[in-house]
Amino acid sequence: MNFSTQVIITGGGPTGLMAACELALAGIKVTVLERRTERVAQSRALTLHPRTLEIFSMRGLLDRALKRGIPLPTGHYGVLDTRLDFTTLDTDCPYTLFIPQTVTEELLEERALELGVDLRRGCRVTGFTQDAHGVTVTAEGSDGTFTGHALFLIGADGARSTIRTLSGIPFNGTEVTSTMFLADMVLDDPPKANSFANDRGRFLVVPLGDGKHHRFAVVDGDRLAVPLSEPVTEEEVRQAALKIAGTDFGMRDPFWLSRFGDETRLAASYRQDRVLLAGDACHIHLPAGGQGLNVGVQDAFNLGWKLAMVIKGDAPDSLLDSYHTERQPVGQALLDNTLAQTAVMVAFKGRDLALRQVLNDLLKLPQVNRLLSDQICAFDIAYPAPIWPVADTSPLSGERLPDSELQLVDGTVVTLYSLLQKGSWLDIRMPGASGAMEVETARQVEATGITGDRYAGLSRLLVRPDGHLAATAA
Ligand SMILES: Cc1cc2nc3c(=O)[nH]c(=O)nc-3n(C[C@H](O)[C@H](O)[C@H](O)COP(=O)(O)OP(=O)(O)OC[C@H]3O[C@@H](n4cnc5c(N)ncnc54)[C@H](O)[C@@H]3O)c2cc1C
Repeated sequence: MNFSTQVIITGGGPTGLMAACELALAGIKVTVLERRTERVAQSRALTLHPRTLEIFSMRGLLDRALKRGIPLPTGHYGVLDTRLDFTTLDTDCPYTLFIPQTVTEELLEERALELGVDLRRGCRVTGFTQDAHGVTVTAEGSDGTFTGHALFLIGADGARSTIRTLSGIPFNGTEVTSTMFLADMVLDDPPKANSFANDRGRFLVVPLGDGKHHRFAVVDGDRLAVPLSEPVTEEEVRQAALKIAGTDFGMRDPFWLSRFGDETRLAASYRQDRVLLAGDACHIHLPAGGQGLNVGVQDAFNLGWKLAMVIKGDAPDSLLDSYHTERQPVGQALLDNTLAQTAVMVAFKGRDLALRQVLNDLLKLPQVNRLLSDQICAFDIAYPAPIWPVADTSPLSGERLPDSELQLVDGTVVTLYSLLQKGSWLDIRMPGASGAMEVETARQVEATGITGDRYAGLSRLLVRPDGHLAATAA
C-alpha cells in the first residue's frame, strides 16, 4: 500500500484535479489522495467564469463543459439589481457557464484519468514530513495507515486544509460576522426574474440545470446573526421568500439546505519548501460573485507547469517561488472584492439602501460595469514582474492573451489556444524575429501574422503555458 511518486496532491476537488491534469499533461507522475469515496452530489459552486472557460479552451476541455452547462451573458456583484454585462469582454467566452460543481469535478476527474493520474478515493491524509529530498505523507485508507513518498506535496484540501494546518502557515483574516443560507428545492411555480429584494432581505433564485431543482441563495436581514451551526429549515426558506417576494413559488422537497458565512482568510504563504497550497486551502471568503472554484482552478493552472518544469530540471527552483508572488495578490484581491460585496449584501438600513441605489446607477456606466466584470472574471490579472526565463519586461509582458488567430508560414490559420493544448511554451516568430529569450522546451511557431491590434509590429512573442505573455520583441 505504501507508494512512491513525483507529486502527491491532497484533495480531489476542482483545484486538486486541475493541478493533477496539468502535471500529468507535462508527463509528471501524480497521485491524488481524496478522503471521500464518492463525489458529493450537492454542488456548492454553480459557475465557471470566462477566464476559467479560456483555460478549459487552452486544454481542449471547453466543448465538454459547454455540453453540460448553460451560458448566461451576465453575472452579479453584491446581488445588486444592475447585472454585470459580460458581452463586452475581450474573449471568445463572454459569459458565465452555469454548471454544477459536481459536473465540473466529473469532467476534471475524467480528464485526469485519461492523462494517467492515480486518483485514490477513500484516503484521508493525516500527516506529512519534508526534508531536502522530498515529502512523506501519512494517510488512512480502507486497509489502514499507509505512507506515500514524493518530491512535492500540493495541499488542495479545502478551507479546513490539513496540509496548511500541519505546515503551520498562518491563515490570517476575520471570523464569521454574518450568515446567509441556500436551498436547492423543487418549485412548482418558478419565477421569471432571478433576483428579489426589499428592505428585509434579498435573494437570487436560479435553475440548477438538472431540470428538477432551483437554488435559492438568501440574505435574510433578520437572520444574519444566526450561527453557522444552526441547521437551515424548509420553513426558514419559505418565510424568507414570502416576506421578500410575497410568494413561496410552490417550494417543496429540498435536496440540500446549507448555511454559509463571511469568514475571510488568506494563507500567509502559498509555498513552504516542498509543500504548495492551492484553492480554498489558501483563501476563503463569502461566496459572492461565484469566484472561489474559479480562482482555485486558476491557482492550479499557474502552479502546474511551473512545478512540472522544476521537477524535470527544465527551470530553476526559483520559478516555483513565483507561484506565491503571482497568486497570493490575486487571493488578496479576491478577499477584497468579496468583502466589498458582503458590505452591500448585508446592508438594509435606509442609508445603506441609498448607497446600493448609487451603486446600481454607477453600474449602468459601461466603464464601471467593465471594471467590476473584469474583477469577477479575473480578466484584470496580469503578471508583469519578470520571472524565469525573462530578465527584463516589455510593456506587454505578463498580459493575459485572449484567443487569437495565427497565420502560419505555410498559409494555414490556427488559433493560439489550439497551440497550447499540450501545455508547452510557445515561441512565436514572425519574419525577421529578434530578441534573446530562450526556453529550450518551447514549441517553435513560424508565423506571418497574429490577430489583435496590440501585437502589431511585434516580431516575437514568448507565451507561457498558462496563456500569459512572458516577453515580446519588436
Ligand atoms: C454556498 C457556496 C456557494 C459557492 N458558489 C460558488 C460559485 O458559484 N462559483 C465558484 O467559483 N465558487 C463557489 N463556491 C466556492 C467553491 O465551492 C470552492 O471555492 C471550491 O470548492 C474550492 O475548490 P477546492 O478544490 O480548492 O476545495 P474543495 O472543493 O473543498 O476540495 C477539497 C477536497 O479535499 C478533500 N480533503 C480535505 N481534507 C482532506 C484530507 N485530509 N485528505 C484527503 N482529502 C481531503 C475534500 O474531501 C475535498 O474533496 C461556493 C461555496 C459555497 C460554500
